[in-house]
Amino acid sequence: MKHRDDSAAALLAARDRLGEVTPLHRDCGALCAAACCAPDDQGRGGMLLHPGEEACYRRLPAGFAIARDDSLLPEGRLLTCQGHCQRHTRPLACRIFPLMFTRAGAGFDVRLDPRAWPLCPLMPSGIQGLRADFVQAAREAAAILARDAAQAAFLDAQDQAVRALARPLWGEEGQP
Ligand code: SF4
Ligand code: SF4
Repeated sequence: MKHRDDSAAALLAARDRLGEVTPLHRDCGALCAAACCAPDDQGRGGMLLHPGEEACYRRLPAGFAIARDDSLLPEGRLLTCQGHCQRHTRPLACRIFPLMFTRAGAGFDVRLDPRAWPLCPLMPSGIQGLRADFVQAAREAAAILARDAAQAAFLDAQDQAVRALARPLWGEEGQP
């Protein structure tokens, strides 16, 4: 039980650290009509939830749903939305986008998420094109999650799964 509590506390702290900062000083959604929130051709979009994050959605906001999803991870839970939300309801995956957590030695860092290349206009400018305090907050969130074994295992699994997805398209660098 304590492990589960520790995982939930780490998750909430990471979400909180990324609660206010945004990738740019202005609304980057205005550049792309919020492409990363756009529903897919079935009318939905989806983000993998971190361990314990499902508990943040016991009362699902309007338009949200949770489904099993093993496309990246065997025990994956996908939060789907209809392209609109209140900021405080965003899952961690949305808060860090277009970055993602990645293994760095004994800990974790952040990198550009290769899944963002087809849709995010911020990608060509690289990490250095993002707000420094956004990147710093993402790095601190990585350090918070790294201290919890379940969160760290999730970050590793996700990192490896995304690398496997990107490799056939863009090689080891994970970019066009
Ligand atoms: S796709 Fe990129 S630029 Fe557009 S809203 Fe998402 S993070 Fe911002
Ligand atoms: S949860 Fe919110 S931020 Fe995330 S994709 Fe849906 S509308 Fe966009």
